[in-house]
Amino acid sequence: MSLQNSLSHEELEMFRDMAKKFLAKEIEPNHPQWEKQNFLPRDMWNTLGEAGMLCVDLPVEYGGSGVDFRFSQLILAEIARLGFVGLSGSVAIHSDIVAQYIFNIGNEQQKQFWLPQMATGEVVTAIAMTEPGAGSDLQGMRSTAIKEGDEYILNGSKTFITNGVNADMVIVCAKTDPKAGGKGISLFLVDANLPGFTKGKHLEKIGQHAGDTAELFFENVSVPASSLLGEEGKGFKYLMQELPRERVSIATSSVAAAEGALDWTIEYVKERKAFGQNISQFQNTRFKLAEVKTDIEINKAYVEKCVEKYMAKEMTVTEAAMVKLAATQMQCRVVDECLQLFGGYGYMAEYPIARAYVDARVQTIYAGTSEIMKEVISRDLLGR
Ligand SMILES: Cc1cc2nc3c(=O)[nH]c(=O)nc-3n(C[C@H](O)[C@H](O)[C@H](O)COP(=O)(O)OP(=O)(O)OC[C@H]3O[C@@H](n4cnc5c(N)ncnc54)[C@H](O)[C@@H]3O)c2cc1C
Repeated sequence: MSLQNSLSHEELEMFRDMAKKFLAKEIEPNHPQWEKQNFLPRDMWNTLGEAGMLCVDLPVEYGGSGVDFRFSQLILAEIARLGFVGLSGSVAIHSDIVAQYIFNIGNEQQKQFWLPQMATGEVVTAIAMTEPGAGSDLQGMRSTAIKEGDEYILNGSKTFITNGVNADMVIVCAKTDPKAGGKGISLFLVDANLPGFTKGKHLEKIGQHAGDTAELFFENVSVPASSLLGEEGKGFKYLMQELPRERVSIATSSVAAAEGALDWTIEYVKERKAFGQNISQFQNTRFKLAEVKTDIEINKAYVEKCVEKYMAKEMTVTEAAMVKLAATQMQCRVVDECLQLFGGYGYMAEYPIARAYVDARVQTIYAGTSEIMKEVISRDLLGR
């Protein structure tokens, strides 16, 4: 029996307790300050790494803990449950997305070089697909990486890149054959210290203020040919292969964030009084909470099913699109309903529910918008 199969529900819950204690000590007290500063400090990554919170489902020989996908999802969920959806996204990009691209597509040398440093937090990573002129339509990207001898010369720019400011290494998607459309895209593991690679300022967002989001610029960056990830021209195929994991991870964070918002709301309505009674005694409040709880549980069941199917390598691209579509829209509905029950206090920035409202909004946009998810699902239905 493999280690992964031997891990029981009790072990998962023990790990959850450990993660919660770590977050309560190291992250929760500092997060409000990071929100105010509009930034995530670089050394937070070392703290996460030292506590064994990064890249946990990588095998031990690459610096991970050799546990299964549920454990990495658990970390994202416990961060999101505290209302730190941006941080959950940052960790997901590093531990769940970039690490898995390298693990699944990279050669042995690339895995041995990058993965252990990512697990300790010595190296922070990002993935750069989106460009100012190409988001949903990734095949329209204009960045190029043209081969010259033993190097590729990278030119172009990327935007909205999570972990962009702190990143030491970025998976950059660029066209190695600009005339070949989607078949001309390749992926590169680009060291952020290479000459010609510059980072724009931290982008200000309406929510997820502690999230690190940046523009990246490449001007004649000489990328060694050994940094090509996988095969030339297969970048778009790799993106389609790896995006489902990102979508399930976002759905996991949506469910946990909604559960967190419901917990705060239950607490609040039991305390707050109007017309001589607790808000919780109004039928509207009770019915809204009942609806919200039902909405969360239905989505949670589907997310759990997708996590299991992902682990069994049975989850389809369409299922990943459905779970992302459903769970992120649920999160937006839930935080909106919960905020309403806080009345005017729900609109005050000092209340976590106010932050949860703005933080949730982007979940239906990144990693493929809801509209693109519907395209993926309907294409499967109609066979186009
Ligand atoms: C906070 C944040 C973090 C992000 N992190 C990253 C990151 O780490 N790496 C990265 O590469 N990118 C990242 N992104 C980019 C994100 O993935 C894109 O913003 C997203 O894919 C949408 O692309 P766009 O912004 O260009 O919108 P557009 O593609 O211009 O879309 C605009 C609107 O048109 C709709 N639309 C587009 N095409 C269709 C269609 N075929 N049918 C129907 N409607 C359509 C969209 O759904 C949307 O409503 C991030 C974005 C944000 C805001």
